[in-house]
Order: sequence, then structure tokens, then C-alpha cells
Amino acid sequence: MRKVFIGCLALAAFCAAAAQTPWQKIDHPVAGAPSAIGSFANGCIIWAQPLALEAGNYQVLRPDQRRYFGHPDLLLFIQRLSNQVKHLGLGEVLVGDMAMPAGGRFNSGHASHQSGLDADIWLQTPRQRLSAYQLLKPQPLSLVAANGRGVVPRLWRPETAALIKLAAEDDQVTRIFVNPAIKKQLCLDAGSDRDWLRKVRPWFGHRAHMHVRLRCPPSSRECIDQPIPPPGDGCGAEPESWFLPAKPGTGAPVKKTPPPLPDVA
Ligand SMILES: [Zn+2]
Repeated sequence: MRKVFIGCLALAAFCAAAAQTPWQKIDHPVAGAPSAIGSFANGCIIWAQPLALEAGNYQVLRPDQRRYFGHPDLLLFIQRLSNQVKHLGLGEVLVGDMAMPAGGRFNSGHASHQSGLDADIWLQTPRQRLSAYQLLKPQPLSLVAANGRGVVPRLWRPETAALIKLAAEDDQVTRIFVNPAIKKQLCLDAGSDRDWLRKVRPWFGHRAHMHVRLRCPPSSRECIDQPIPPPGDGCGAEPESWFLPAKPGTGAPVKKTPPPLPDVA
């Protein structure tokens, strides 16, 4: 395992310097015991499993991209969440990008999703199944107003908040990234049951989907977890800080520039 880990990190380092990543060319999982290796934004996965494309409670978007691989824990989470969503009559879960067969860095679109523990779940939960064409060419529905300061009231539905809450309450989930406007709305809507909000973190983009991240599985000894989120529900000053006016004369926001190697997206 140590040898695989070192090879994985060497490849990851090479990928960071290359425009194209060789991870895209790996079309089969790497054999071995299932193991998430490295960090979410600089890692890979041994023996990733493909999420079943034929399922009654969820649908996989853009299946032609083959980004539906993950650690077995991630597959179980998606099945768990979609069963709950269906059981509660909230609609069907739409699964976006997970990881490539060996994990690693995508050519574009994601900095993380590398160790098989991240999944994008769309915030729409349709009552009807999407056609094959709609799955190949899905239309993301931004729930955030054009000015970025709030959600679009006519698009914000109780089902959306319920979906995010169900995911956050899952024991395996360590973080969920949503747009700051969505976090703000969740804070407004939540009653006294607020513990789950701690895991829901504001981040750039994420207007039409949430990014769900699982904790490192205990058997993945080379997996690097993030620190747990700070105590509290993360409401109030934290989401509000994303809406501060630009610094005079700079045209730039007061803060909130992406880190050089973001662990999300
Ligand atoms: Zn994501």
C-alpha cells in the first residue's frame, strides 16, 4: 500500500504541473483493497467502485463522462440518501460528478473529487425521471439570485432544504459546500434543530448543486481528513461576511478569494 501511495502522490505532483492529467486516461479502478489515499484535492483511490447507473431512487447525470466512481462508502451514502428522499416523497436524487476510476485530478471543473469521497448532488429533486438525453445534457437550475445575495424565492422549495439536511445528518458526511446565499437561507429557515448546519459550509459557486464530502473511512489509513468544522451552526457573521461590499477603489471583494489549492468544487 505504501508503494501505491507514493506512486499516487508522485502522479498527483506531476499532474499539478501538467496541463493534461494522466488520470483522465485511466479507465479502470486500480486493483487492491478499497482505500482513499491522500487529501480530497491531492489524492487518488484504490479499487473505486462504479455507482450503478440503473437505480430506482436516483439518476446519474452525464454518465458519458464516467465520473461516477467512488469509495464503497460513497456509493452506500448515495443509496442511503436517495432511499430517504424517495421514502419521504421528496422526489429523486440527481447525482453529478463523483470521481474518475482511479480518482486524481480532472482536466477541468474540479480541484477536489480526487480520493473517491466527494459527490455533487443536484439541488433539484424531480418527481419524474429524466430522459436519457436530459441525463446527458442536464440543465443546472441556479437557486441563487443574479446578484448573489439571496436565493430566488420562487425556486427555493422545502424539498431543497430537506435534501441538504438529510445529507448533513448522515454520520459519514463531514462537510457540505453550498453557495453562501443558500447557507444564509438555510439559517433563516431552520428552527431549533440546528446542529446539522455546522457541516454546511458556504463556498463559491454551488448554486445548483451541493458538494458532499465524506470523512476518511477508518480502513483508509493513508487518507487525510480535513479538520472538523468549527463549533456552532455557522450562521450569522460567517455567511454574512460573503456579502460585504467591495473595498473602495479596488472593485474587489473585501475577502474571499479562493485558496491556491481549494479543497472544494
Ligand atoms: Zn463538487
